[in-house]
Amino acid sequence: MKVLSFKNGDEMPIIGLGTWKSEKGEVGKAVKTAIENGYRHIDCAATYGNEAEIGEALAEIFEEGKVKREDLWITSKLWNDSHLKKDVIPALEKTLKDLQLNYLDLYLIHWPVAFKQGVAFPEKDEDYLSLEEAPIGETWKMMLEAKALNMIRNAGVSNFSIPKLEDLIEETDEIPELNQIELHPYLQQNEMLEFCSKHNIHLTAYSPLGSSDRSQAMKAANEPSLLENKVINQIAKKHGASPAQVLIKWSILRGTAVIPKSVHKDRIIENMQSAGVNLNEDDLKKIANLDEHFRYVTGEFFVTKGNSYENIYDE
Ligand code: NDP
Repeated sequence: MKVLSFKNGDEMPIIGLGTWKSEKGEVGKAVKTAIENGYRHIDCAATYGNEAEIGEALAEIFEEGKVKREDLWITSKLWNDSHLKKDVIPALEKTLKDLQLNYLDLYLIHWPVAFKQGVAFPEKDEDYLSLEEAPIGETWKMMLEAKALNMIRNAGVSNFSIPKLEDLIEETDEIPELNQIELHPYLQQNEMLEFCSKHNIHLTAYSPLGSSDRSQAMKAANEPSLLENKVINQIAKKHGASPAQVLIKWSILRGTAVIPKSVHKDRIIENMQSAGVNLNEDDLKKIANLDEHFRYVTGEFFVTKGNSYENIYDE
């Protein structure tokens, strides 16, 4: 499989399995199914609440002996309540313990937003830490410290806007190796692609299929469905592929990694086979026209009276 190469020579497989909203009781099976069917990259996060079950699945896989730890690329993310200097390493230790690993391939600062220790999602302004209280540069230094301690092989960020990346680059000698952001035909983020290419920062596309099934909420909010988009479906039909495969292949062709989530064996396999779909210039032109700067993951779960997600994305 195609890979993204990191500065230390590590290679991240371009397709990974997403695990957000993969329920307990399902996620371990999904991870095992994925690995049995060729996946070598799993995307995790402490806040998804399912790392312990993923850890059990990984331990069973290693026990079987067909796949070794060094064959896999495991990413996880530091939650927003652990940005303070004293909290980064303990949060990482917890993730490593849950995943039953002694190192991560990639650790990301999940969001450029800090909460007080123990706050999963803020309910009031007092739940936040200000930039003065929890400077992101200090959190980043601790990510590099984790790397020096060999707890992680690579460090990166997630949901960072261009201005936030610029600030971090200015502050540090070692810039993030990767930014994981929402990327799909409705949110193409071409400026971010250019910026990251210029600074040798890899990108991972999250919510590449338009995120989880939120059909009720979608109907209420009139959200566009990517998987049901007419153009995507026409292109899929023409190539004898599925709409999901077209979306995943589109991400691959833009040089980003892509982490579709599924807990269903047929879809997990189908998504992995996307690499074989051949999109042509005409298809890519049509997909380029679909950009409408639409976010599925708005960050609205962070919004309290004094904070809005516009501050997160700098839009
Ligand atoms: P995706 O865009 O991957 O969509 C997942 C949804 O699509 C699920 O409902 C899944 O259902 C369905 N699906 C999967 N494959 C197919 C298929 N072949 N055909 C039809 N439907 C399909 O959404 P996510 O938001 O989960 O994004 C992917 C991953 O990115 C996350 O799981 C997480 O790891 C990461 N992420 C990171 C974020 C961050 O802040 N850094 C934010 C959001 C996501 P089912 O499971 O039932 O098959």
